[in-house]
Amino acid sequence: SAAYTWPMVYGRCLHGTDYIEKMHKNIDMANDILLKIEGLRASVEDKEILKGVDLTIRKGEIHAVMGPNGAGKSTIAKLVAKKLGFIYVDTGAMYRAMAVHFLREGILAEETEKIEAACEGVSVTIRYENNEQQVILNGENVTHLLRTEEVGKMASASSVVPKVRMKLVELQRQLAATADVVMDGRDIGTY
Ligand code: C5P
Repeated sequence: SAAYTWPMVYGRCLHGTDYIEKMHKNIDMANDILLKIEGLRASVEDKEILKGVDLTIRKGEIHAVMGPNGAGKSTIAKLVAKKLGFIYVDTGAMYRAMAVHFLREGILAEETEKIEAACEGVSVTIRYENNEQQVILNGENVTHLLRTEEVGKMASASSVVPKVRMKLVELQRQLAATADVVMDGRDIGTY
C-alpha cells in the first residue's frame, strides 16, 4: 500500500474540525475513497498555514501524517477516526502501561537489563469501551494510572529499549491487521 506524507503543518492547529468538514464535502464513496481533500487552504489567526493541499485516501491504503510537536496531528487523527468509524489507537498509552509494570517491579529508568527481563511474560492489550481506549496490563485495566509524571518519565526512558519497542510494535501491528485504525505515535511506519 502507498505511503503518503501529509504536508507539514506549521503553527498550532486550532481549527482541526474545519479541516474535517472540508474533507467530507468532497467525499466520493463510489471509488472506495474514504477521504479526499483538494486545494485545501487553512489559516490560523490571519497566518496562512496550508497553501493548497491535495490528499486522497482510499480504502486499504496506509498513510502517515508527519509534523512537528503541537502541529495538530493528534487533533486531526482523532477527528478522522471518529468520522470514518476507525479505532483511534494512542500508542503512547501502551508505552505508559509498560512503564507502570516496570515501576511496580521497582525498576529504575536506567536499569536497561532489568527492563528487558521484565518484558518477558508481561501482557499489554487494548480494549474499547464506548469508543474509548482502555489499556490492560496483565489483565488489569490501568488506564487511570497512565497520566502521571512518574509514569511519563519511565515510558520515555524505557521506550528507547529495543525489546520494549519490538513488543509494542508487534501488538500495534496485530491491531492494525484486524481492524481499521488511526494509530497515533512516533515510529508508526517503522520500529
Ligand atoms: O505520547 P505519550 O507522552 O503518552 O508517550 C509516552 C512516551 O512513550 C513518549 O515519551 C515516548 O517516549 C514513548 N512513545 C514511543 N513511541 C510511540 C508512542 C510513545 O516511543 N509510538
